[in-house]
Amino acid sequence: MSITLDPWGHTAVEDYEKLLEEFGIKPIKDIVDFYSLDHHYFKRNVIFGHRDFDLWLEKLSSKSRVAALTGFMPSGSPHLGTAMVYEELKYLQQKGAHVKVVIADAEAYAVRREDRNGLIKRGLEFVAHAIAWGINPEEAEFYFQTNMTSSYYRLIQMFSRKVTEAEMRAIYGEVSPAKIIAALTQVADILHLQLEEYGGYKYVLVPVGVDQDPHLRLTRDIADRFEHELGLKRPASIYHKLLRGLDGNKMSKSRPEYAIHLDDPVELAEKKLINALTGGRATAEEQRKLGGEPLKCMIFELYTYHLVKDNNELREIYTDCVSGKILCGACKKKAAAKLRELLVDHRNKYNEVINQVEKYIEKPSF
Ligand code: SF4
Repeated sequence: MSITLDPWGHTAVEDYEKLLEEFGIKPIKDIVDFYSLDHHYFKRNVIFGHRDFDLWLEKLSSKSRVAALTGFMPSGSPHLGTAMVYEELKYLQQKGAHVKVVIADAEAYAVRREDRNGLIKRGLEFVAHAIAWGINPEEAEFYFQTNMTSSYYRLIQMFSRKVTEAEMRAIYGEVSPAKIIAALTQVADILHLQLEEYGGYKYVLVPVGVDQDPHLRLTRDIADRFEHELGLKRPASIYHKLLRGLDGNKMSKSRPEYAIHLDDPVELAEKKLINALTGGRATAEEQRKLGGEPLKCMIFELYTYHLVKDNNELREIYTDCVSGKILCGACKKKAAAKLRELLVDHRNKYNEVINQVEKYIEKPSF
């Protein structure tokens, strides 16, 4: 059965290898050592695939102009899945990329049918969380889609000439006018950086969860079609695995109890973690004898993605789990302490940033 990726839904992926094959995404593991990609997401195959990231890295190392751009739909509040993108932008910025962050308020209004004032408020919060997570705002740009100038909207109109409804259906499945415009707006987000009005050509990399790949496929096709007319070039992209909900199922806005949000009270976040699905056995005796199953465990997933950066420490947790040396109760307590530390630190930084966030992003007036 083929895999469907829905950038507006809640995609669960069982088999990432199959996805690489099906969509022609290249495995990241082939280039990690060659380019000395030292972030734990690369080392642990959390970022598992790419399109032309090797070419982008070549441009970066030759000091050509490069940028990393991604977007956030300000619907709900950011959670540890959102923070993966913050983490990637932080790393790419430290490597020398100019970072640009889109707040996709036009898309959230049209597709998620969100209230306009709420979107602006949450958009500002998403930016404050990004800065609190470690993105240097002095070296980054943030914008609301609805605050963009006419050239950006002109791009959307021009793009509409060279796509067909059948093509949109082939990429996205079911589409509506709102979804078609939202998709073309995303394409303008990714490609506008190449226009003279926005500083001229730079090679753009888009770090995203793999559920966003449909937008990248469309963008690359449209860039090809406008290469002659507008000089547009294809962007590169990297894809991370999707952090699952704490019950092991897909993460969904409609089930907030299974996601840890960056603005959750710490006690609530700890409680969610303590109730998470583990790879533990039915009894302590059985677990001591057979060991746990960390690859089925949401606590181990949190360790891998966010709570343990040191590879030796992660290996030790894995070994202690599979050998039955540690049981889930103690392991969860350890994870809860690490989560508390992460959230308290983040919250302190967020509180410093939120009151001055409008220094870094202009609020839409309409
Ligand atoms: S011991 Fe830890 S890693 Fe192993 S299954 Fe239990 S909670 Fe998960």
